[in-house]
Amino acid sequence: MPDYDIIIIGAGHNGLVTACYLAKAGLKTLVLERREIVGGSAVTEEIHPGFRCSTLAHSAAPFFAPIVKDLQLTRHGLETITPPVRVLALSSETPAISIYHDTARTIRELEPISTRDAKNYPEFERSFARIGKMLAPLLATTPPAIEHPSAGELWNLGKLGRSFRGLGKKDAYRLLRWGPMAVADLVAEWFESESLRAIVAARGIFGAFAGPWSAGTSAGLLWQAAMDGHAIGASSFVRGGMGALTGALANAAREAGVEIKTGSDVARIDINDEGAAKVLLITGEEISAHSIVSNADPRTTFLNLVDPVWLDPSFVLKVRNYRATGVSAKINLALSGLPSFTGVEDKNDADRLSGRIQIGPDIDYLERAFDAAKYGDYSPRPYLDITIPSLLDPDLAPAGAHVMSVYVQYAPYKLKDGDWNSRREEFADSVVDVINDYASNFQELIVARQVITPLDLEQIYGMSGGHIHHGEQSLDQSFTFRPLIGWAQYRTPIKGLYLCGAGTHPGGGVSGRPGANAAREIIKDFKTKKA
Ligand SMILES: Cc1cc2nc3c(=O)[nH]c(=O)nc-3n(C[C@H](O)[C@H](O)[C@H](O)COP(=O)(O)OP(=O)(O)OC[C@H]3O[C@@H](n4cnc5c(N)ncnc54)[C@H](O)[C@@H]3O)c2cc1C
Repeated sequence: MPDYDIIIIGAGHNGLVTACYLAKAGLKTLVLERREIVGGSAVTEEIHPGFRCSTLAHSAAPFFAPIVKDLQLTRHGLETITPPVRVLALSSETPAISIYHDTARTIRELEPISTRDAKNYPEFERSFARIGKMLAPLLATTPPAIEHPSAGELWNLGKLGRSFRGLGKKDAYRLLRWGPMAVADLVAEWFESESLRAIVAARGIFGAFAGPWSAGTSAGLLWQAAMDGHAIGASSFVRGGMGALTGALANAAREAGVEIKTGSDVARIDINDEGAAKVLLITGEEISAHSIVSNADPRTTFLNLVDPVWLDPSFVLKVRNYRATGVSAKINLALSGLPSFTGVEDKNDADRLSGRIQIGPDIDYLERAFDAAKYGDYSPRPYLDITIPSLLDPDLAPAGAHVMSVYVQYAPYKLKDGDWNSRREEFADSVVDVINDYASNFQELIVARQVITPLDLEQIYGMSGGHIHHGEQSLDQSFTFRPLIGWAQYRTPIKGLYLCGAGTHPGGGVSGRPGANAAREIIKDFKTKKA
């Protein structure tokens, strides 16, 4: 008899979601996490005595509401914080713009900048909301088998076709036309102000090895709209940082009977003629299970953990061609006070800083930032997505002090000159200089900083190529193509081995959706004795 029904490799938020559902279905489940803490990219760590920060992801995708309900995450300690402002876009030349949840307030903000943009904004938002609503069911659906779709899959596709027709001619045409477009072209059709164009476009390129002029970047925007029904993403924080979300998931998992072992690095998945049989830890310990689920990314799973003799060479080749070269870094700062951003100095205006803060003032800036990465260097003027979570969650920092979380794009995994270990501090200095251009007292407020390079994302956090989404989320690596065509249903060519992480549909972001979808398929296999 195997030791467990299920072993899950990795306690990222998706691994934990899968674990909860499987345990609730009565399966004896063990989660093995290589780090000493659970959470993967959704963690809160102390970056300096008294200063705690969401070390990697700082805002949820948003997290899928039905999971919160099913797993009673509120009872397990989850408290979300939604600031009134979605994003504040800084500019060194024109006034800063805030986009609020409240459309009327946003229109008032846009009017002095462009009456045309203020007029177009509500219809732009409404169109994205309608299209997002139509696409949303896809996110909770297992992508259909391409060659032999089941009756249920054909039924779901039929339903999708009906809701597509229900969109009406205007939105249906927009959806078909927008998908393959460069996001820079899409925003230029709607808005004339560079700031607003850049705010929208940034969402299409977040985490992507692409710039706003790259084809297909509008698809990223549409996919995000399916997640939350908006063209411009909300700031969705968790009290206590993102680690409090995965802490609540771990509590729910333990209550459902899941065993979680941290500091347990899986070196290999052992396979025999029956399929995946056991895992071998780097300590030499072996643990067996009926089935094994990997929350590690597809490249790590198939190229590092599985002996290639068990895989068809053409499958291995496809995994090698799966694009997962990261372009993101993170800098977390302990600050002695609140920076004074140009155009937001008024203390009564502090709520404008409480959501996400964007540095990436125009489309050309964003594209030039990408240029550097294309040619193997970090950008001297990167796109930054900044949060100051201690504004709404003061326990994260000592009284009067703050933590600042800075997502930096573009910082390519592979540098043409030197390496990340030798260039880490010089890179961080250049990011600090950029922020200082928008907040002149910034540098003097820094008490400590933590710099996380793409190489750290791979070596410390286990993401192959340092890719924040476990692989590019381009059209060719989405839905029935994620991670690979023919293998988008969470199963793998090895019987009893499944994937449940961001490298599966519907991809990256702290949404919990890949984990929930994977659990549904695994439970189905157990019920029909296919697992
Ligand atoms: C810098 C950064 C910023 C981001 N910002 C945002 C954001 O603001 N909003 C948002 O929604 N998303 C953001 N993301 C993306 C999001 O965090 C990820 O897409 C998502 O968290 C992935 O979750 P996961 O559970 O699939 O995988 P992960 O969180 O990567 O978890 C995988 C787990 O598997 C473990 N593991 C790997 N190999 C092994 C092994 N051999 N043995 C044992 N354990 C193993 C890892 O240690 C890890 O804990 C960001 C990501 C990064 C890196």
